[in-house]
This record gives sequence, structure tokens and C-alpha cells, in this order.
Amino acid sequence: MTTVAALQALRAMTVLEEISSGAVTRDVLDRLGVRDARLWERLAVTYFGPTRYRRLQAAAREAAVPLSLDAVAVIEKHLRSLLRGASVTVEELRVELCGLRGTVGEIDREAAARVREHNRTVKDAAAKAYGKRALRGGKNTDALGMRTLTLTLPERQISHIIATLLPAADQARAADPRLGYEPAMADAAYQHLTTGAAGGEVPPVVPLVVMGLPDYAAVLRQEGDETVFALTDGTTITGKELVEHEMASHGLVGVYDPVDGGVNLYRDQRCASFKQRMLLAAETILCPTPGCTTPADQCQVHHLTPWKHGGETNLVNLSMACRVHNARNDDDPNTPPRHGRLAREPGGVVHHPPDGGPPRTNTHPIRTLSAMGLVNR
Ligand SMILES: [Zn+2]
Repeated sequence: MTTVAALQALRAMTVLEEISSGAVTRDVLDRLGVRDARLWERLAVTYFGPTRYRRLQAAAREAAVPLSLDAVAVIEKHLRSLLRGASVTVEELRVELCGLRGTVGEIDREAAARVREHNRTVKDAAAKAYGKRALRGGKNTDALGMRTLTLTLPERQISHIIATLLPAADQARAADPRLGYEPAMADAAYQHLTTGAAGGEVPPVVPLVVMGLPDYAAVLRQEGDETVFALTDGTTITGKELVEHEMASHGLVGVYDPVDGGVNLYRDQRCASFKQRMLLAAETILCPTPGCTTPADQCQVHHLTPWKHGGETNLVNLSMACRVHNARNDDDPNTPPRHGRLAREPGGVVHHPPDGGPPRTNTHPIRTLSAMGLVNR
């Protein structure tokens, strides 16, 4: 049997059924060195054991047929976070989550997002979640003499901490280009926590209204800092007029073409490069590389066609990309592909893998709230 065939045969439902029937015992699993033997036993009870919800259990098993044990384990991990009083029961949500497909990482994030959606319907969800805040670890020393702390807080508090530490980390990295992001952040955190030293100025959260180009307007031309649109009645209108026509409320307004991406940013007097950064960040929310979770605020502006190959610094040729994926991008089309490259296709930025396979997008659930996710909904 080849390794691929062996892994293919090791589908969760096949293994769990045999554990449940007693054909595979805990002793056998322990002897084979299966670290998760105890977890598999618990999963076997969930998916094949006695239950009052037999119809839903059978539906979950059927939906989970293609899933690996790791995928089923992450689904169960998130199901445990479903709050009492949510709009769905654990048994019902299990069927839905077992229908997820993709890599374990993709299923992990999508399952977390779906459970969160249901938890939002619970009245005191935020208070219940806040009860789970924690600072854990710090007691065990590893083989290198290091210890690890894990901090769990609401997302906005964590992103506030990151934003507070980032300026000091960036400064240290500018002084020493060999210093990595994680060590620099560790230094900044240690300094901040032990001396109470000020981080940097935390930039305020800027709300951005995302507006898709209405059907009746098409981009006609760019005139300096202003965009002129052609209307289907044969007249033209500037972006400023369009925004005033479509939107009454205040705040920054980003106009996006559902196919080509960012068009222009309104109600802000800052420079063109700030506008580009803002539009690009809202367009993608995260680095567009599949599986990457680096937020756009911590990304660099990336030229899709490199400047030295004639690529221009205009929105259609730009995207945010994290430091790692920006550096790894196969910029030169004349050298053999190594890590693949980012490219803009109608509807957004995709990643072309180095093996010439079909392009992939970053399917992280938060990207449904990106500008391109919103205008193409
Ligand atoms: Zn990335």
C-alpha cells in the first residue's frame, strides 16, 4: 500500500466505526504510537455511540465521510465553544460543520467563524466569552531553557496589544534588518510589560464605507486625483458626485469595481499613497495568500507585476501582501517557479501555485467582509 492510499483509507468515519465496534482497541492504538488515541475513543462515542439524536448523528456521519480524523477533531473543538441558548443545537451544527471541505486549516477557521455566528445570537455572549479570558502557561521550561505564555482576550483587546507593540518592533527591525517579526515583537512585549514603556501611538480605528460601483456607472478615466465615471444615460459624473449621490452618511468611502478592485477613496484629504494603502487593505483584509492570517495593517504594498518588469504603481497592479509572502513571491516570470505568485483576476487577487495548478484564494472567513467580498456578494 502506498502512503497516499494508507492516508486515504484512514478516513475518520472508517476508523471511528472500528473503534466503536471494538475491532480496534485502545491497546492497539497505544502500541502503534497514536498520540490522540484517547481523543479518537471520545470521537467514536460521539459519532457511533448511543444518542437520543440518532437521525442527526447519522446525518453527521454521512456528511463527514471524506473528512480526516484531524478535520473531525477541529470541528469537535469548535463545537465545544457553542454557547447555551444559541440558535442551533450542537447536534444540528455538527451536521453543518461535517459538510465543510478544504485543508484542516481552512476547516478550522471556517468552523470557528460559523460557531461564532451562532454564538452572536446569545444574549450575553460577550460576557460569557469574557469569562474565558486567561493568561496561561509560563511554568514549563523546554529543552532550550525557554518558557511560553499564552494570552486569551477578546479580539479587539488583542489587536490593540499588537498595535501597541508594533511601532517598537518595527523600529527595532529597521535598525537590524536580520531581526525577525516574532523575536522583535517578543522584545517589545517584554520591554513594555516589565518597564511599562510606552509602545507607540496607536492609530485609531478608521471606519470605511465600502461602495460597489453601481451598475449604471463605469470607470471612464482618471483625472489627477479624481475619477470620472460614464453613466448609462450618456453623461459623466465624478467620483465625489457619485459618492454624494449614493451616500448620505459620513466616514471614509471607498469605491470598488467588482471586477478590477479599488477605484478611489473619498472624504479624506491625505496623499495618494495613503489612499492606495487604505483601499488595498480594505480590499483584502488579510494577505491574499491562501492560508495566511497576517492582517492587511501589518502587510506591505506588493507590486503584482514588478516595477522593474514595467509594473506601475496603480491600484490594479497593487495588492497588500505580508512580509513573508511579499519576499517569497516569484517576481521574475523568466526564472523557474519556486513559491508561486500573486495575480489579479476579475473579482480579486489570487495565488498561482508553483506547480502550475489552478489559482487559489485565501478562503479565511473574515474575507467575506473584505471590500471585494462585499461588493461581489
Ligand atoms: Zn502572507
